[in-house]
Amino acid sequence: MQRFNFPKPENKVRKKIWPVFLPYQGCPNKCIYCSQVAQTGTEIHSLSHYYNELRERLQKAYAEDHSPLELAFYGGTFTALSNNWAYKFLELAKEYKEKKVISEVRCSTRPDALSFNMLQEYKDLGLDMVELGVQSFSEDVLAVSNRGYGSDTVIESCRLIKQAGMQLGIQLLPGLPLHDREKWFKDVSRTIGQKPSLVRIYPCLTIEGTKLAKWWKQGKYTPWSLAETLDLLTRGVLSLWRNNIKVNRIGLPPEKEMLNRVLAGPWHPALGDIVQCRILYYLILTNRLILGSSRLKMFSPRKYQGLIWGYKGMNRHKLDTIGISPRNVVYWDKDYFQLQTDSL
Ligand code: SF4
Repeated sequence: MQRFNFPKPENKVRKKIWPVFLPYQGCPNKCIYCSQVAQTGTEIHSLSHYYNELRERLQKAYAEDHSPLELAFYGGTFTALSNNWAYKFLELAKEYKEKKVISEVRCSTRPDALSFNMLQEYKDLGLDMVELGVQSFSEDVLAVSNRGYGSDTVIESCRLIKQAGMQLGIQLLPGLPLHDREKWFKDVSRTIGQKPSLVRIYPCLTIEGTKLAKWWKQGKYTPWSLAETLDLLTRGVLSLWRNNIKVNRIGLPPEKEMLNRVLAGPWHPALGDIVQCRILYYLILTNRLILGSSRLKMFSPRKYQGLIWGYKGMNRHKLDTIGISPRNVVYWDKDYFQLQTDSL
């Protein structure tokens, strides 16, 4: 009997995150694709409103003795907030970190809104991770999207975050104007080069009210199709996993407000699951080929019971053609797969 073991790389950093959305706060301009209110489902208020709201929630969590959560400031350019608001938020977070309500603190920001001194001060105030809205490393994609920085700035910001002793997150936005397959694979490889702790991938959607929507209506912009996006994400995510880089999110969460305003683009409620299912099929196929044409038995981690057969069973037929069906799959509590030739 021949046996072959193989793992499925883990996709997610499993942490409970407490997001605090600060839509457009600190942003120097409105990016062509961005619709923060639709994407986050959060109204625009003053920073003192968000601050007071957060303080109340933290106080309540403390009073109720919640288990610690990771606090995340998302939805704007946190490191460019006016009037020292980043300090005020971080001081508040530090107070509740000391009270064990918060375990870690992270923020998202633009690559051109950082300096080493600032990062060191934020680190001293308890900021653990900075997620950079990189979107792409391609100069022409960044330029046409009016991001206002180039790839050198991205690389330098990644270096500064690491130098300050913080974890680095990278957010990518495949499918912007002028982006293509080749540039996507370069983005993946340059992302791997930065060795981030995690990556988030948000394929570009055309949302009502954005400049991109205007270009789409004028025929100046064509979004990536869902099929192409799935193909490119599957390859990209597999490369990231193979380099031990976690992919924490694929696709925007299904905010009702956003779904009502998506005009075009590769939207699917289970985009991340489909990408994972495709990768899993590919891993099973490549290992199946090594064992040749003999009859097989497959052992699968119980937690991947749904994932093996794919979203709405989309892997079933493909697996059947390579001799794997529910009849010869056994679920076990180990965290790796095993394919073995069946001696019966
Ligand atoms: S993409 Fe980021 S920087 Fe641009 S407007 Fe949106 S939140 Fe601000």
